[in-house]
Amino acid sequence: MSILKLSAVELAQKLRAGEITAEALTTATLERIHSENERLNAFLFIDDDGALEVARSVDADRAAGKDLPPFAGVPIALKDNMCEHGTPVTCGSKMLEGWIAPYDATVVKNIKAARLPIVGHTNMDEFAMGSSTENSAFGPTVNPWGEGLTPGGSGGGSSAAVAAYMVPWALGSDTGGSIRQPGSLTGTVGAKPTYGNISRYGVVAMASSLDQVGPVTRTVADAAALQEILSSHDPLDSTSLPQPAHGLLDASGEGTRAEDLSGLRLGVVKEMGGDGFEDGVKAVFKQTVESLKERGAQIVDVSLPSFETAIAAYYLIMPAEVSSNMARFDGVRYGNRVEPTDGPVTAETMMRETRGKMLGAEVKRRIILGTYALSSGHYDQFYGSALKVRTLVQRDLAEAFSQVDAIITPTAPTTAFKFGEKSKDLMSMYMNDMTTTPANLAGVPAVSVPAGLSDGLPVGVQVVAPAHEDARMYKVAAMIEAIADPSVRECPIDVREDA
Ligand code: GLN
Repeated sequence: MSILKLSAVELAQKLRAGEITAEALTTATLERIHSENERLNAFLFIDDDGALEVARSVDADRAAGKDLPPFAGVPIALKDNMCEHGTPVTCGSKMLEGWIAPYDATVVKNIKAARLPIVGHTNMDEFAMGSSTENSAFGPTVNPWGEGLTPGGSGGGSSAAVAAYMVPWALGSDTGGSIRQPGSLTGTVGAKPTYGNISRYGVVAMASSLDQVGPVTRTVADAAALQEILSSHDPLDSTSLPQPAHGLLDASGEGTRAEDLSGLRLGVVKEMGGDGFEDGVKAVFKQTVESLKERGAQIVDVSLPSFETAIAAYYLIMPAEVSSNMARFDGVRYGNRVEPTDGPVTAETMMRETRGKMLGAEVKRRIILGTYALSSGHYDQFYGSALKVRTLVQRDLAEAFSQVDAIITPTAPTTAFKFGEKSKDLMSMYMNDMTTTPANLAGVPAVSVPAGLSDGLPVGVQVVAPAHEDARMYKVAAMIEAIADPSVRECPIDVREDA
């Protein structure tokens, strides 16, 4: 089998055993990226020189018998909203086109410490706002599962790249589902850790109380391993946990023992899985529940009434925070300045011109909505009530977790949809996030695992665990992975056998 199809765990073993070199692996990865990217548009920046330099230094240190971190030499890609010193970071926006990051985000520092060659930056909806990657100013990413299909979003670039064997693993950021929903639509594993596990320092903020960086991979074990690499306490992020979750890779080994699940209590949400879900998605979810039951898991119906209003609360809290975070892109502090061509040039006209020309429609819509929701006279009515719903989501989940170990839901209501299909009907685009947003509102960990196919397209099942129980989340995810149809993890796309 081509090395491009191996998981990060398998590649790391081969590198340690001296069966392959980091340089050969990185070269094959870069060749694959160059050959596929014109069609898929998954990468906005490809860093041949930077990645090869790291790979060669790993090989040299290995040859010299130096101690290396376990995954040294396994290439990785970053979502294009993470600062990597000396490289272009655009957030999928014309506003930042040409901007070079002056420092490393903490996640990038951790990746560099793990000696992973960074092969480039992946495409995304502008400033991470969207569910299809169609809002990127640099054109959409194509889902490798089918011509004309979106990979989901906002992190469609990372998910498509991993699904199409362009890179073994990548980073995403998840504010309301941007790792998990594209995971579901591309047959990849995508995890959003407990809030505070992974530093947000140097990651361009969308909605700070919801944002969390996480892994995009082809296997649950890879996701667990990558979260361990990324997690660290960071004094530069005031919401960073003093002790991030650990023991994740070990927990993911439970998949091999998926034959006997007695003692495992899994909640199925009464309010989720009916209306608004495609039949094929419901069928895969039902099949997963049946297989878990057959192996002895106890399935408990749990009622989470607030889940039905969570999406509405998300679409108030998120834009409120977006309106504040986006204020810095004004052509003075950050962003490509546009001077007005007619009329007087004042700070106000320049900022209006800059924000008017450099930001896309969805970003503007959210800034306006958020500003309105926070305005005096409307604050209690909109933002205040959304915060109350957020508390209810947290309470409902806490109540459910007193009865079950984890909750499972379909990750997304549909399989991969066509370009243009939902971008004209914003409600249907926003409804994509109905199952993923509760975990962000509550700060709990959640992961999407490829669970089965519907009409030849992947369907993901989401596992939600209590806060700080990331290890338990990976354990359950590994069990679902072990019983799922493996073809959901194998995108039918050509890969050269000799690569
Ligand atoms: N699709 C959601 C949105 O448009 C989530 C985005 C994200 O997680 N960054 O807001």
